[in-house]
Amino acid sequence: MATPLSAEKTLAALKAEGLAVHEHTGWKTHNRDSETGKTFGPVIGVLIHHTAGHGDKEICYNGRSDLPGPLCHSWLGKTDGLWMIGHGRANHAGAVDLDVLNALREEKSLPHDNQANADGNDCLYGLEIENLGNGKDPYPDAQYRQAVLWAAALCRAHGWSEKSVAGHKEVQPGKIDPSFDMDDFRADVKKQLAVTKTAPSKPSKPSGSASKPRVDLSRLIAAAKSDPGRKQGHVSYMAGTNLTEAALVKLGYLAKTYAGDGSFGSTTVAAYAKWQHHLGYTGTDANGIPGKISLSRLGDRSGLFTVVA
Ligand SMILES: [Zn+2]
Repeated sequence: MATPLSAEKTLAALKAEGLAVHEHTGWKTHNRDSETGKTFGPVIGVLIHHTAGHGDKEICYNGRSDLPGPLCHSWLGKTDGLWMIGHGRANHAGAVDLDVLNALREEKSLPHDNQANADGNDCLYGLEIENLGNGKDPYPDAQYRQAVLWAAALCRAHGWSEKSVAGHKEVQPGKIDPSFDMDDFRADVKKQLAVTKTAPSKPSKPSGSASKPRVDLSRLIAAAKSDPGRKQGHVSYMAGTNLTEAALVKLGYLAKTYAGDGSFGSTTVAAYAKWQHHLGYTGTDANGIPGKISLSRLGDRSGLFTVVA
């Protein structure tokens, strides 16, 4: 049980986890609290959905004729990245199994959902992932990875483990979403939570360099060397790559459309090479593969991260 994160803390937590976050106009005050007379919280976990459609970000914001929006807190596009949709009570979970809610609250393994006798919109954060959900529509690696980071960010901010994560199909009888395995997903969230982070949600921390996200140089180098040769959108080091790309965008070396998918592709390598040229490097020293000095200076100049080697 926990008090829901403020809009600002939600943003900070997601960004610190390495996500590039887009904000739908009006999301911070978009909720169902006053309409229903029920306030959101205390929160006990995060719930994962697929949208069963494509291009449905606005539907998730506005709702449908039979169900007013917001239909989630965040919407994750196949290639459009993560979007903030609502803050507060959202129509995503509906009526769910109380036994499952209790298990989530206590971080126990989830019992089978066989009744719909409790309000899930009260207490669960919801992520809608753009996917047809027919078992044939693939989740691109970068999209799936962002879903893991979204869940991990909220769990980390609340001090929860991966056992506070559920799929809609696990809490409400008859639901089939999301169309991937939730045990696998929780295992991936657990791995992500094991990665040491600066703690974005601790209000006592000053906002100086000590609390900045860190980019691991060796992992970033590995990503820059392997991602361009792999299939489009291959992701080796989502968090560090997104921070590096955000810095390159901020300083004008990379177009924003290429940032945020977590893949250190050939366009990012070319943009990084321009940054190295800017610093005075030439030849193989400006080949687009990050080095300690160029990366540290990129972090400093953009103000977005510090480097650990
Ligand atoms: Zn759902």
